[in-house]
Amino acid sequence: MGMSTTRAGEFSPATRVRRIRESPSSAASARARDLKGQGRTIIDFTVGEPDFDTPRNVKDAAIAAIEAGQTKYTAVNGTPALRDAIRARMLRTSGIVYTDAQITIGGGGKQVIYMAFAASLDPGDEVIIPTPYWVSYPDMVLANDGSPVIVSTRPDSAYKLTPAALEAAITDRTKWLVLNAPSNPVGVLYTPEDLVALAEVLERHPHVWVLSDEIYDEILYTGRPFTGIAAAAPGIRSRVLTVNGVSKTYAMTGWRLGYGVGDPKLIAAINKLQSQVSSCPSSISQAAAVEALTGDQSFIADCVAAYRTRRDLALERIGAIAGLSPIAPDGAFYLYVGCGPLIGRETAAGNRLRSDEDVTLFLLEEAGVAVIQGSAYGTAPFFRMSFATSESEINAGADAIAAAVAGLRPPTPASADARAETNAR
Ligand code: PLP
Repeated sequence: MGMSTTRAGEFSPATRVRRIRESPSSAASARARDLKGQGRTIIDFTVGEPDFDTPRNVKDAAIAAIEAGQTKYTAVNGTPALRDAIRARMLRTSGIVYTDAQITIGGGGKQVIYMAFAASLDPGDEVIIPTPYWVSYPDMVLANDGSPVIVSTRPDSAYKLTPAALEAAITDRTKWLVLNAPSNPVGVLYTPEDLVALAEVLERHPHVWVLSDEIYDEILYTGRPFTGIAAAAPGIRSRVLTVNGVSKTYAMTGWRLGYGVGDPKLIAAINKLQSQVSSCPSSISQAAAVEALTGDQSFIADCVAAYRTRRDLALERIGAIAGLSPIAPDGAFYLYVGCGPLIGRETAAGNRLRSDEDVTLFLLEEAGVAVIQGSAYGTAPFFRMSFATSESEINAGADAIAAAVAGLRPPTPASADARAETNAR
């Protein structure tokens, strides 16, 4: 009953599962882990999380919560203390006062985004996703019967969605525009003027909502402050779901705690679903998040200072390798690296690099460096490397990449294609 099967006893996944792929970043991390397991030294730039430990005061708050018996279910929408902490933080960063009815809390920003799609999409509803995008958005849309509408951004607009491109992508079926800034993978930050210009388009299309993923909003390098679209564009604010969490800002990826703030009816729909999915987020993680959001905030500046040094180092070292052009990120902790000139070159073994996925596999095999192919983020040829790692790893990785790339040769016209066919994976 219920579970579809092809043959008696043989499991067959539901259509929604067959529509999606495993997260490519998880797959790349797993590949790096496998090689490490085989004894190879791999410099791993795939991981999308801070390398810092969760701050002491946050751990202590969690331990105290356990000791005080805060180990039971909470309300679906979290503890009053956490809702207050989120409200205070939103007021501080956006100047907007949110009521309790406008807050949902979930197992990470990721789950909040998933729940927002699950609570709002009917089959065929469209979600506009600008490239390069965080790998999970299209699959989350597909898993919830929606249609991702991928909109390319361009280098000459600094990889930002333009009002014209937004206008052209909107149809009667458009439900959401997903905005992510600073973005994963390219680190782009929208100015308040950019956001106002996008909002002007949205004013003409009142059926389109905005999911503003602001998970990296504290991790900034250019001195420009962060502004979210809800703050920049009061005229469309009622249609903005702002998503954030404690994972990246407070080095708490494993605690799984994120939140969303927005329209009370949308939040009620998400919370209704949440009541059937998880009952509530972990009580212990909620207590930790209260301390993270309301306690000493100096941890953030310390981390950002370290990330900034690493960003500059990675930019300089990778930018010095012929054939690679990193894009300077405004925020987040990723370097998105153009690798177009490597496409078509041949490895010492005579394999021609035909795509950024080939480049990624080549770097893993030849340099022992794990990165993620840009095609996973909807643009090519690029790769993404996280610089949330030590300066020595960044230096060692850059040395290894430079040596491997120097060993590539221009294609030998006659044999290259035939050999590539033979070597086709
Ligand atoms: N949004 C973006 C752009 C991310 O890169 C990530 C994590 O990689 C998330 C959301 C989700 O973070 P979490 O679920 O840990 O809050």
